[in-house]
Amino acid sequence: MDTVLEQLKNGVRRFRADISPAQAEFFAQAVAEPQRPHTLFITCADSRIDPNAITATGPGEVFVTRNIGNMVPPYGEMLGGVSAVIEFAVAALGVRHVVICGHTDCGAMKALLDRSSTDKMPSVRNWLKNAQTALAVATTLHEHEIEAHHERPLVDVLTEQNVLLQIQHLKTHPSVATAITLGNLTVSGWIYDIADGNVRIAENNDLTFTPLE
Ligand SMILES: [Zn+2]
Repeated sequence: MDTVLEQLKNGVRRFRADISPAQAEFFAQAVAEPQRPHTLFITCADSRIDPNAITATGPGEVFVTRNIGNMVPPYGEMLGGVSAVIEFAVAALGVRHVVICGHTDCGAMKALLDRSSTDKMPSVRNWLKNAQTALAVATTLHEHEIEAHHERPLVDVLTEQNVLLQIQHLKTHPSVATAITLGNLTVSGWIYDIADGNVRIAENNDLTFTPLE
């Protein structure tokens, strides 16, 4: 017997049994009209991140796309799943905000710092090229931090620079650039700490991340 599948089935049974009348009404309402999510949330595929839980949102509020390292290929370079999600969320659904959410202890960031770890994963290695510029910037920044005696682990610097780079990539997408120009869309970068649930945010084109009060 597939014990994992059984575990998942039991989870569905429990979910259905535990739905409160208020939630049932909420779900019914959610399908009664077209979805109108206010936010596109782009984060890592890491199993320890739960976008709805950390933002206290429910069905219909957040349009989510996830991939290894919360990356957004620049427009035209890898047209596919991520670019289609962005276009649909911004142009068709009219989301008003995009979050790019990186996180602590990210395997993708560690893999960027240890190239040999992807020797047998050519697809992963190819995908990580989307953060190559962040690696270059982070390495230089880290050297400056050592000189200034403000040293942090290189992976922490890289995690931040990756989010900032992916925001730049996001803005190369025509639907995003157009919506920003019209004043219909804002963008923020987040770092989610999976150990304590804290979030640091870079908004309004900030290049630094500020802890959420
Ligand atoms: Zn990750």
